[in-house]
Amino acid sequence: MQLPLDYAPDESILAGRVILVTGAGDGIGKAVATLLAGHGATIVLLGRNVKKLEASYDLIEAAGGKDHAIFPMDLLSATPDSAAQLHDAVHTEFGRLDGLLHNAGVLGSITPLEHYEPETWLEVMQINVNAGFLLSAMLMPLLRQSTDARVVFTSSGVGRKGRAYWGAYSVSKFAVEGLMQVLADETESEGRVRVMSVNPGATRTGMRAAAFPAEDPLTLKTAQDIAPAYLYLFGPEGRALHGQALDCQ
Ligand code: NDP
Repeated sequence: MQLPLDYAPDESILAGRVILVTGAGDGIGKAVATLLAGHGATIVLLGRNVKKLEASYDLIEAAGGKDHAIFPMDLLSATPDSAAQLHDAVHTEFGRLDGLLHNAGVLGSITPLEHYEPETWLEVMQINVNAGFLLSAMLMPLLRQSTDARVVFTSSGVGRKGRAYWGAYSVSKFAVEGLMQVLADETESEGRVRVMSVNPGATRTGMRAAAFPAEDPLTLKTAQDIAPAYLYLFGPEGRALHGQALDCQ
């Protein structure tokens, strides 16, 4: 299913809801977090670079919502303990969590498998997959307390069909789809947490420029252009979606 990029609901649809966005300091995460805040959500900004998170925080605060919080965390070194600390911090600060956007990700190398650096492979899997598992697992008790929560995983076209040279990134996104499907199946009967994956499609960010250095970025949609699709997922319409692999473009 392709999500609407022209979704423009009432500005208060997310009032009172707390949504955690990973990789909120740049690119798609920053744009989506800003739009969600502009519709009343309180954002927990997670990322590894405090300066970037602070810059995002200022934008988000100006957009709307209230009581936003920064939680610095390098997902490369995420452990059960650090994920538990995140749970405790969100619980203490807000007492609730209504949304989790797994957006942070790294590209790794674009190279044939036989030349792929094993260390880079493990790093990509840790950031793109293992951290998503740890955060989902630890935050699930809080999400389940919400009567209408969302967990949104970020996929990619190469996470749905393998492509030469995309190595760990492609494989990690297949794993993300698997994680999404398992969690969706586990939460289906209770009906409190809706789980889905979204492929943003080619979007003008640092990651895209690193993957396609010869491409003219002006031919691509911006992160702001695709952000309404994410708003749709976290808003009331998203409640009808569960276990699906969705597309922004
Ligand atoms: P960016 O590189 O612009 O942003 C990625 C974000 O993830 C940054 O904020 C980055 O932090 C953060 N991040 C990376 N590593 C870590 C880490 N170890 N710990 C915490 N945060 C980390 O990429 P995009 O905005 O383009 O990508 C967002 C998502 O969309 C990714 O999952 C990507 O795979 C996916 N995607 C993007 C497409 C595109 O065309 N742009 C297409 C398909 C999928 P920092 O700023 O410190 O680097």
